[in-house]
Amino acid sequence: MPFKKSKLMEFPRDVIVGHGVIDEIADLCKKVSMGDHPLIVHDEKTKEIAGKRIMELLKNEGYTVEDITVERATMEEVERVKNHAMKWGAEYLIAVGGGSVIDITKLASFKYGVPFISIPTAASHDGIASPQASIKENAGSLSIKARSPVAVLADTAIISKAPYRMLASGCADVISNLTAILDWQLAWRLKREYYSSFAVALAETAARLLIESAEFIKPGIEESSWIAVKSMIVSGVAMSVANSSRPASGAEHMFSHALDQIAPGKALHGEQCGVGAIMMMYLHGGDWESIKEALREIGAPTTARELGVSEEEIIEALMRAHTIRPERYTILGKDGLTEEAAFHLVKATGVA
Ligand SMILES: [Zn+2]
Repeated sequence: MPFKKSKLMEFPRDVIVGHGVIDEIADLCKKVSMGDHPLIVHDEKTKEIAGKRIMELLKNEGYTVEDITVERATMEEVERVKNHAMKWGAEYLIAVGGGSVIDITKLASFKYGVPFISIPTAASHDGIASPQASIKENAGSLSIKARSPVAVLADTAIISKAPYRMLASGCADVISNLTAILDWQLAWRLKREYYSSFAVALAETAARLLIESAEFIKPGIEESSWIAVKSMIVSGVAMSVANSSRPASGAEHMFSHALDQIAPGKALHGEQCGVGAIMMMYLHGGDWESIKEALREIGAPTTARELGVSEEEIIEALMRAHTIRPERYTILGKDGLTEEAAFHLVKATGVA
């Protein structure tokens, strides 16, 4: 058989992380040389936090800047941003915000066919630098393939002012890579699914960095944002290498999506994935205690009560999780958990 393997990997070209780096926006735009007509995408809050300042900095350097304020990460918002960019002839998009703004911009720029710069104002999930966009639907959220940002500008002075709960949740999201990669290895062994040991090494490195630094991730410490953002960027690069969310999303994410359907709006995405990772690691026969310990140290939820949901809701989500993304093989297999097994799991891990 002739060798015909080919693969596309797209990474952010420039990544700037640090205190006060927002002031480097004009230099960054010049460096990635995409023109002087960017469209800034933000929401009401992030416009005040950083959007206005970015527009001002760019206007001072002679850029012609337009902006659009968005709300929830829905397909309608993605279309609205895309149409605005098209109408106005934007050469690239700049996402200034938390998870939703980045998700909307990522998909809108992909559909419109221009690059985007990611400027996170919170470290709430691992989508900062990943090619996947998470878009809300009636029945929960959908992970859609888009493109990685061409550059990431993460100002720790801004990120550390966001509610600490968001950062802790983002860290839990990255820690949950540990079960996602075990699921991927399982699918590789059982199904010969495409597998990348490089993507796995990166995803694992990101999660281990947080577990090892857990004691330094605390409210009010700007360095926490530094560590968190670094791990999220490495996690995003792992997804770029894999060209899918596989290294960062397994059964623990399916559990989280199931919980979104059963008890919507109770807890944050990463918080649910963290608790999911404790339980899925137990099913894998791995070291679930150290995941639980790290989450506790960081201040992320480890129990149903801390998530604000009931034991019954957790059990129902566990039993439903395998139906969420049936093509993605995980430790839950094709049939998922029985009620008895789900009950045992929440008890054994102390989740309820
Ligand atoms: Zn996630």
